[in-house]
Amino acid sequence: MAFLTKLLLAAIVRSIVCIVVAMPNVLAATVEVITTDTHRFTEVRNQIYLAQSTARVFNSNALVIVNEDDVVLVDSHVTPAKARDLIKSIKAITPNPITALINSHHHWDHAHGNQVFNDIPIIGHDFTYTKLVGAPLEEATYVNGIAGNKATIARLTAQLVEERDSEKKAEVQAYLEMFKAHAYGFDEIRPVPPNVTLSQRMTLHRGAREIEIIFLGRAHTGGDVVVYFPADKLVFTGDMAFGGPSFLGDGYVDEWPETLEKLKRLDFDVFVPGHGPPVTDLNRLDLVQDFYRDLWRKAATMHAEGVTAEDAAETIDLTNHTDIPITETGTSLVSIQRIYERLIDPD
Ligand SMILES: [Zn+2]
Repeated sequence: MAFLTKLLLAAIVRSIVCIVVAMPNVLAATVEVITTDTHRFTEVRNQIYLAQSTARVFNSNALVIVNEDDVVLVDSHVTPAKARDLIKSIKAITPNPITALINSHHHWDHAHGNQVFNDIPIIGHDFTYTKLVGAPLEEATYVNGIAGNKATIARLTAQLVEERDSEKKAEVQAYLEMFKAHAYGFDEIRPVPPNVTLSQRMTLHRGAREIEIIFLGRAHTGGDVVVYFPADKLVFTGDMAFGGPSFLGDGYVDEWPETLEKLKRLDFDVFVPGHGPPVTDLNRLDLVQDFYRDLWRKAATMHAEGVTAEDAAETIDLTNHTDIPITETGTSLVSIQRIYERLIDPD
């Protein structure tokens, strides 16, 4: 890095909060956390940063891979506005240009910042391309997301009317304004698909760094890819692996345990999921596999017995999964509906 660039970077870094914190149960060692006015960057390994928005709204994780001469980014956030905030914030950790974006999967909260990256390769699975070039704004997951925004605005508006305490009223007002600005950001979305696609795997070479993009099988969607760093024993899993169950509404619960089995065959000791903190307790993957197998088996039995999806969602008993933890009978209707859909039409 040129000396002048280093000086400039040092000046920027001085203007931001830079702290070293211990994150017990998340990352074994102390990790560096850099915050800007919109983002928190946690260095997971060797200049590979988990980027999380600090705004109190739903958003996904991004992974910022700082290489010798460039930056490769994984996932583009929930809206173009949030993607622009991310690009601006990345300048606080490196002057290197972003030269490629990888989409872990097609879901709106991970891929609807894509349109801001209009002059670089956007890499994703063939399935992700098909979904984003289709009618992504008509997909149930997106429609439900928009409905959620409207419901939140309605709830906050009602709360504002009812609140008598002036201090609390001001807080609700401020949050409502911020949330409205976030929700209006959805109006700008013009879905952009990947312009480079893969069906199985691809490797990006950046100096000594190898960035492997791998499709391990269907799981959370039909086209999840993981981003694997063999030298750093790190993998970014998107939404196909968490420390617990993922959203199942577009999932392949019958095939998912086997896909996770293939994930476990990679040599890594930490994974970064699509939401939440990095996970080092890899035994969680076994628990999740057991949970999916059991959920599929029980739901399939109920389906065969003619139990409606609504009744199955109410009565299915998964409370034997105490470590997940599942504490109550029942599960989400959308999960059961998706399983029933696959039982009827196992494509
Ligand atoms: Zn997702």
